[in-house]
Amino acid sequence: MCASGTTPNAKRDMPLAPPIWQTSAFSYPDLETMEALTAGEVPGYIYARYGLPNHLQLERVLAALEGAEAAVVTASGMSAIAATLFALAGPGQRVVADSHVYRGTRLLLEQDLARFGVRVDFVDCGDRAAVERTLREPARLLWVDTLTNPTLRVRNLAWLSALARAAGALFVVDNTFATPIHCRPLAWGATLVVHSTTKMLGGHHDASGGVVAGPAELIEAIRRQVVRFGGRGGAFDAWLIQRGLVTLPLRVARSSASALALAQRLAAHPTVQRVSYPGLPGHPEHQLAERLFTGGYGAVVAFELAGGEPAVRRFLRALRLVRFAETLGGAITTVVHPATTSHRALAPTERTALGISDGLLRLSVGLEDPEELWVDLEGALVASNR
Ligand code: PLP
Repeated sequence: MCASGTTPNAKRDMPLAPPIWQTSAFSYPDLETMEALTAGEVPGYIYARYGLPNHLQLERVLAALEGAEAAVVTASGMSAIAATLFALAGPGQRVVADSHVYRGTRLLLEQDLARFGVRVDFVDCGDRAAVERTLREPARLLWVDTLTNPTLRVRNLAWLSALARAAGALFVVDNTFATPIHCRPLAWGATLVVHSTTKMLGGHHDASGGVVAGPAELIEAIRRQVVRFGGRGGAFDAWLIQRGLVTLPLRVARSSASALALAQRLAAHPTVQRVSYPGLPGHPEHQLAERLFTGGYGAVVAFELAGGEPAVRRFLRALRLVRFAETLGGAITTVVHPATTSHRALAPTERTALGISDGLLRLSVGLEDPEELWVDLEGALVASNR
């Protein structure tokens, strides 16, 4: 019965938005029900860490978006990455990762997975011959990001997946930068796809989450790892991310169109030395991006100020609309300076090898009016040169 005294009816009394199941546990009517639930013989919920209705609803939407059989959602992108690696790679096995992989993934591989007896090798996954050579030795897993962070190089998922398959390795793609709107790695032969849903999928800078999607059998192994690690996250964050997905195609289309327009204008500006954006014809993998991506090239643009770090300091101080914050993929346009933030701990020679100069900035374009964004960026570019 509702407050009005009527019986709920699917047409009249269903909420348009899903409820938030803000509970840490569920009760059982008797021992038999609990036994059947625990054995997986009947559907139902037990405990928040195992998964709440908000987690499972979100998993269904994300699996459909990536064209996957199943998905498991987690508290952050890093917990999705950690659960995947720890569930699938063990002592004596070897993981091969792109030398340009997301810095958090690299640190986890080097500082944690390696401590548990997993051999970790890095290779430039833009270099086909080098990947072929590296995969001559047995490997359990090959790991790449669709677009490299922060340099925006595009990885050729077609030949990478073929090489991984020939080597008997699982192929995992972090698709955070591209989003399933532009690219679906499973369709290109990836075994699993990973996201930080904190970014474009959530899209509003207000929730933290991650997801792994792929074949049900592997996802179940990763799900058990997530439960053992306690890596689930809260119901409200899952709810916010699911709400964000409602507008995902619209937000991605807007941000990618604005990013392309801004990349073109940045490339033509005299204080900008170089722009890396896969939508620009001068990008080394522009043609690959045209084959791999549909509907745009993503929200992120990398560009280099000719005046190096002093120019970066003046540029950041002069910004009024664009925010200096260590994130990407949200409604608000943000910018970071990788040399002093994500890649600060690296020696200058290591940064140079990754293409990260002192003047490099990574811009993530949000939903603001692109003309207003350009006025802000242009003003800061002028100020950077003073
Ligand atoms: N993967 C990529 C490509 C990222 O850029 C990030 C974060 O910036 C992550 C994973 C980690 O995600 P989270 O911060 O949600 O743990």
